[in-house]
Amino acid sequence: MQTYQAPENALANKTILVTGAGDGIGRVAAINYAKYGATVILLGKTTSKLEAVYDEIVNAGYPQPAIVPMDLRGATKQHFRDLAATIEQQFGKLDGLLNNASILGSLGPMEHFCVSTFENIMKVNVTAQAVITKSLFPVMRKAPHASIVFTSSGVGRKGREFWGAYAISKFATEGMMQTWAEEVGKTNIRINCINPGATNTSMRASAFPGEDKDKLKTPEDLMPTYLYLMSDDSIDVNGQSLDAQTY
Ligand code: NDP
Repeated sequence: MQTYQAPENALANKTILVTGAGDGIGRVAAINYAKYGATVILLGKTTSKLEAVYDEIVNAGYPQPAIVPMDLRGATKQHFRDLAATIEQQFGKLDGLLNNASILGSLGPMEHFCVSTFENIMKVNVTAQAVITKSLFPVMRKAPHASIVFTSSGVGRKGREFWGAYAISKFATEGMMQTWAEEVGKTNIRINCINPGATNTSMRASAFPGEDKDKLKTPEDLMPTYLYLMSDDSIDVNGQSLDAQTY
């Protein structure tokens, strides 16, 4: 597989919302989207992390981003409606939505799973992503071409022992993407998944605390796929689950 090389202004005049933009893969994706010309809306839980990403983007001379502090676990339909209204008012349209924020919870046998942890994982990784996407659909309809990207995982394609609710939530992510992608068909909106693969972030470190981090990919290594699915070079791609490492 060849590596995608985004043209210099691949994302110029696009507005892209990234969830979980304060850390890990989301942080690097947000900075790269800005680097290629997008105005990025940084949504995440910890305001200080979002502010640091904001500063990094502004200091690099990229388009000024916006910050949306939001805990997806507690967010209600009204929060998402307000978000959609604000985006429409300020930007007129939304060209991209990267549903990246997720939580891992604790790994362990299904026989002993904690019900409240299970519910939290489903809320952040599945329900909040469905509701934010539904809420932003009308403003994405206003873009000439809009791309929705969900974030999958290897454990969302084949079950793996002890990955519990996280794995189940990623199967749901793949299912949500496939179901929705069939419905959008050949409209202005396309919907796909990226499976990042093992990547050096704090989520990965909490799942595998003893491994050698230097042997892992970095978030930066994944960016060709993240840029490809947000750029107009992928306007005919819909309903696919791409492995980041293969691009
Ligand atoms: P990190 O844990 O490093 O980053 C997750 C981001 O999501 C953080 O910015 C975090 O914000 C945010 N977030 C978490 N909970 C919430 C919440 N309730 N509301 C709003 N924002 C929240 O994860 P990664 O970067 O590693 O993972 C990114 C995506 O890639 C996830 O979907 C993950 O499942 C997937 N993935 C990752 C792999 C890997 O090896 N790293 C492998 C396969 C899939 P804050 O820091 O403020 O808590």
